[in-house]
Amino acid sequence: MKMKAVVLHGPENYPNNYEVMEIEKPVCGENDFLLKMKAAALCGTDKRIFTGGKTKGVRPDSVVGHEICGVIEEVGSNVRGYKAGEKVAIANVIPCGHCPACLSGRENACLNRQAIGYEFNGGFEEYVLIPEVCIKSGNVVKLPEHVSYAAGALIEPLACCIRGLRNTGTGFNDTVLIIGAGPIGLMHLQLSLAAGAQKVIVSELDAEKRELALKLGACRAVDSKNEDLRKIVMEETNGEGVDRIVMAIGVNALVDSTFKLAKKGGTVCLFAGFPKGKMSEFDPSVIHYNELNITGSTAYKRIDYLQAADMVIHGKIDLDAIVSQKFKLDDFREALDLHMAGTALKIVIED
Ligand SMILES: [Zn+2]
Ligand SMILES: [Zn+2]
Repeated sequence: MKMKAVVLHGPENYPNNYEVMEIEKPVCGENDFLLKMKAAALCGTDKRIFTGGKTKGVRPDSVVGHEICGVIEEVGSNVRGYKAGEKVAIANVIPCGHCPACLSGRENACLNRQAIGYEFNGGFEEYVLIPEVCIKSGNVVKLPEHVSYAAGALIEPLACCIRGLRNTGTGFNDTVLIIGAGPIGLMHLQLSLAAGAQKVIVSELDAEKRELALKLGACRAVDSKNEDLRKIVMEETNGEGVDRIVMAIGVNALVDSTFKLAKKGGTVCLFAGFPKGKMSEFDPSVIHYNELNITGSTAYKRIDYLQAADMVIHGKIDLDAIVSQKFKLDDFREALDLHMAGTALKIVIED
């Protein structure tokens, strides 16, 4: 049996390095299940994968796509607890459980991690094989009727943001600044409010995204090109600066000015991926005198994923609001072109 898939041949020669084509439908082993893909979202990481900027774990002639939701099509004879027809979302990152990172409680930074969309074929295909190791690691979450497939796919990036929220330490009555109101910034905005933040200021150059940020609860959405972000942050915080800052865009040149917006004792999370090997210049005395905590965040733990799913199921986070365009698998090229252009918010492939 054949099926449609987006096959990425290799890291070079974008946009001629991939094609939407027919490949063999995966055979469901007795310990696996087969997922009918219903929604797979495009993410910033996919930009880097298709253009060769990220190659770790990406196999030649494979199918990527790591934000996945679908319906179980077929269940292996040894698999218990799942049946055909169930709507599920997949936590794509599978930690090994025995490396130093896993053993020290950082499975999100596992040294031997495997992932759907990397070592295993991912979501940009009609049927995705969910292997035994993924099922046994508890990486499958059942979703109720009222959660859309698109929202199901976006549980994955939300889980990453929950990990970031924990590293940032955002809590009750905190003032928060989020740099960038793309999908990730808008998730951080909603999560910060859910965690009890007193106010969230967002900095974003795109007017539509600023508008959506205000709709989702930001107290100010600052156009930092035409407005003085520092002045506004100080106005909003009695001249003290904010308790927590999340950099949801990886722009090296913004690091120094961002550090200077944090309150004494505040925390800055460099959440976004930054270009590898590119340096930032910053004034370390700001960290010293203001006793800043600087942190990062990578991927998610399974508990983050389960909590992300719970929040979506219980209506605490609106992920559908973040979806801007939907495309069919056949129109993947059009979707990726739009994604590369950088103007779209969140694009979801549905089938
Ligand atoms: Zn992603
Ligand atoms: Zn590990």
